[in-house]
Amino acid sequence: MLDFNVSGVILFNFLEEVLEMGTENVVIIGSGPAGYTAAIYAARADLAPLLFEGVQPGGQLAITTDVENYPGFPEGILGPDLMNNMKKQAERFGTRIVFEEVVKVNFNDYPFTIITDKDREVYAKSVIIATGAAAKKLGVPGEEELLGFGVSMCATCDGFFFKGKELVVVGGGDSALEEAIYLTKFSPKVTIVHRRDKLRASKILQKRAFNNPKIEWIWSSVVTEIIGTREKGVEAVKIKNLVEDKEYIFSTQGVFIAIGHLPNTSIFRGQLDMDDKGYIKVNHPYTYTSVEGVFAAGDVVDYIYRQAVTAAGMGCKAAIDAERFLESRQ
Ligand code: NAP
Repeated sequence: MLDFNVSGVILFNFLEEVLEMGTENVVIIGSGPAGYTAAIYAARADLAPLLFEGVQPGGQLAITTDVENYPGFPEGILGPDLMNNMKKQAERFGTRIVFEEVVKVNFNDYPFTIITDKDREVYAKSVIIATGAAAKKLGVPGEEELLGFGVSMCATCDGFFFKGKELVVVGGGDSALEEAIYLTKFSPKVTIVHRRDKLRASKILQKRAFNNPKIEWIWSSVVTEIIGTREKGVEAVKIKNLVEDKEYIFSTQGVFIAIGHLPNTSIFRGQLDMDDKGYIKVNHPYTYTSVEGVFAAGDVVDYIYRQAVTAAGMGCKAAIDAERFLESRQ
């Protein structure tokens, strides 16, 4: 007969095995380049990953047009096509892809728990976070009320609706210039409002924007209010010149906000170490987060490079890190 201690150990092992039977090897949260690349690598390593796509399948590239800097496409490729290809490649090796949003996680107990907006509860031996980042808002009166009624955060999604209208783009980075250039396909005049007198954008985009006769510039100024109604749409913006400290009304029929992004990390708050902007901290050059078995990759970690190709590279690293972690537990 077994004494209590031995039978206790057997019972514990038995319960652990039962729990492990219904437990995923790898759950990937997010479906941008980092998420899909992690899925391709994890699936090819026979880990049968489960990937939750989130509210915007394909991530930020799914709402962009030409991608000219992703290697392997000399003529460029449309963002949605690139993401569709990545998805197909991940599925080809056995990734299960679910169109649900993860709304809650528990990384305090092992195996980890993941809960989705459809009340699906999943247990995981390892998790790869690739939830990316979302567009930042100005936080001025009129912005929220007129979002979708003349205010947009995405030229490639909404540009078509502004045919023939004069527009304002806010920001001085690559996104602002790219959006402004794109909008000149539809608009006779696009005015870029930037808070400094120097652009942050890359030289190649600056050159294209400066050479575009439909683009005009308002320097050292911020938009302090967006004026209009849901019935009539946007009619004007209030602009403050920061040098002269003067405010004035500027007529426009649409406002595109392109002032950067915030990481999608609210559901991980309190469970993982983050920096003061909410980006998840990882142990570079690895993708280890502060919880063993949880990895993070892409824009949710990286506020410096934020490119599709760098996100894909980190997704690959996260899958390899997860594979090694799982091996080390066997
Ligand atoms: P970003 O580089 O962070 O630029 C944000 C811009 O918005 C900056 O000019 C900033 O002004 C301005 N800004 C920020 N907060 C503001 C506020 N509250 N009011 C007014 N202006 C504000 O963001 P991004 O342009 O989205 O680009 C993010 C990353 O993606 C970058 O690494 C970029 O290279 C990359 N990207 C690449 C491409 C491409 O290669 N085709 C396209 C898009 C994005 P300051 O300059 O004064 O800080």
